[in-house]
Amino acid sequence: MTLKTPFELLIECGGCGLENLIPGFVSGVPAVCNQCRENMLAYDLPQTHQGHTCDSCGRAYLLKTETEFVDGESECQCGSRDFTELGLKDFADQTAKPETSESDDDDPDFDWCRPAPDNSQQEDFNEIFDDNPGF
Ligand SMILES: [Zn+2]
Ligand SMILES: [Zn+2]
Repeated sequence: MTLKTPFELLIECGGCGLENLIPGFVSGVPAVCNQCRENMLAYDLPQTHQGHTCDSCGRAYLLKTETEFVDGESECQCGSRDFTELGLKDFADQTAKPETSESDDDDPDFDWCRPAPDNSQQEDFNEIFDDNPGF
């Protein structure tokens, strides 16, 4: 699933539990709770929430794990009962991650053959083995 296109997101706030409907959710936009003003995506969603998307209208439901959701019985607002499970780890990976400056590690001119000045960790690792009489 890609989060590039806006979709309807119904998410239960991990703080106060209020259901918030975000009509045009896209990745990178914080989902702020109407009641407690928390960023609902800042919670550890794979731990606290379950995810389902409606096969019919595409609305995504992010419900707290303790919320009862019965596949085949729970009904979408559009009337459909066909849902696809939404992997919250993927979802969280695409939404909650703050923008990191990955460009630093992504230098195409980086010379992989040149010994990095800070590879002491690898050397320490070898020394541990060399000094261990058990090996
Ligand atoms: Zn809230
Ligand atoms: Zn639906």
